[in-house]
This record gives sequence, C-alpha cells and structure tokens, in this order.
Amino acid sequence: MTDNFKCDKCGSQTDRIDFTGNNNVCPVCNKHYYIDSWQRIKMIADEGSFNELAANIGSFDFLGFTDTKPYSQRIKEAKEKSNMSEAVIVGGAKINGISCAIGIMDFGFMGGSMGSVVGERIRNLSEYAITNRIPLILFCSSGGARMQEGIISLMQMAKTVSCIRRLKASGLPYISVITNPTTGGVSASFATIADIIISEPESLFCFAGPRVVRQTIKKDLPSDFGLAERNIRNGQIDMIVNRNEIKGIIFRLIKIFLKV
Ligand SMILES: [Zn+2]
Repeated sequence: MTDNFKCDKCGSQTDRIDFTGNNNVCPVCNKHYYIDSWQRIKMIADEGSFNELAANIGSFDFLGFTDTKPYSQRIKEAKEKSNMSEAVIVGGAKINGISCAIGIMDFGFMGGSMGSVVGERIRNLSEYAITNRIPLILFCSSGGARMQEGIISLMQMAKTVSCIRRLKASGLPYISVITNPTTGGVSASFATIADIIISEPESLFCFAGPRVVRQTIKKDLPSDFGLAERNIRNGQIDMIVNRNEIKGIIFRLIKIFLKV
C-alpha cells in the first residue's frame, strides 16, 4: 500500500514522496504546508553551500522558569522533537552562486518563539553579512515571544531591529520571507523592516492572531484576516511567491540590489 498525503484543503491524495519532493506544497490546490528548516535550506541554498554559524549558542533556563513543566525540560523536548538546536538556524550559503547570509526560523521548535538565542543568532548572522558585504535573507515563522524568558525575550525585538539598522547603514539588502504563521514579536520587529517582504501564499502575518483579536473587539473578522492575500492589498507585504519559485525570485532581487 502506498503512503499517501491527503490535502485538508482540496481533499486530493498525493503520493507522499511526490508531496515531499514538491517541498510540501499540494500539487492540486497549491496549499503550502509546514516544512522544517533543514528542508528549507535544501530548497534555497546551492547544494553543499550552507555553512552554519552560531550553532554552539544554545538556550538555558536562566530564570528557573516553570509553567506546567520546567523550561529546561521544554528545551530538551523541543530539541528531540524538532531535530533543531533552536528556533532559528543561521549561516552563510550560496544562492545560484551568490553568497548570502541566511536565517531560517522553524515553528516546530517551541512555536518559533523568539528567545535570547534567536536574537543572538540573528545578531551573529547580520554581523556576518556586514563583514562579508553580502545580502541578508530571513525566513520568518513565529508565534511570538518566548514567555519562559520573560523580559529578555521582549528585548530581542529591539536587539534584532538595531542589528538590521546597522546592516542597512552598511548599504546591504535585507529580504524577509514570511511563512505561515509569523506573528507577535517577530512580526513587530525584524520581519517587517526588510527592503522587500515576500510571503508564501495564505501565510498568516499579523501581530495578534485572529482568535485573540476577535475575542478582544467582540466582532467578526474578515475570513482572510492577516493572510498574505489581504496583506498585499493593504501594502503590508510586497509580493506573494510560491515556495518553489522563492529561490529564483530572491536570486533576481539580490542581483538587482547588488547590481551584478
Ligand atoms: Zn490540496
């Protein structure tokens, strides 16, 4: 019996190997499903060109924070479950031969929450971009702040924004790619201040999610609230690009920015 993937949007069934080979995009209705950071790196970077940076910087429980579980246990479980060392992977890579600094967030690691290590890895990456005079590209995916790190988590908004400001002052381009979902502190900091903001189709990109907004204002929201197709009409993003075309589009954009 073949292992099929059933699309929850259009109901079609696809051989799982074909679905994975299509970078987890339904070949019938184009719904974009979650992919992990390592698969994304394969998709965006030239083969064998990714050189991970700051991998030795890892989280620890400096507040001794426990909600239903200790934070240290949550970190351990997230690592085991996600095959990631943190909610972002950063490094140097080539895109069709052009060197870039690339960061890829992963919702699979504690909901892509922005703790101190996410901020510090992005700082490392933007400094790497400045030192090497290369473009910065960040794939965003986040539920927001990492509450287990308290105010330190919120400080990463100011930290990442000031890193990007230094990069911009150096005259280097920065492209952010919004993937589903990008909300909270990430949407309110580095995701939003790129020179070009690309979004995958139907990706949620907002500060507070629709459920929270609905509960707060006690009104119904448009069905496309916060989605790419509405955000582009409102000028919140610059372009909607299918996942399998993102590498080609980024390549064209960086060639324009770098005048090569
Ligand atoms: Zn489908």
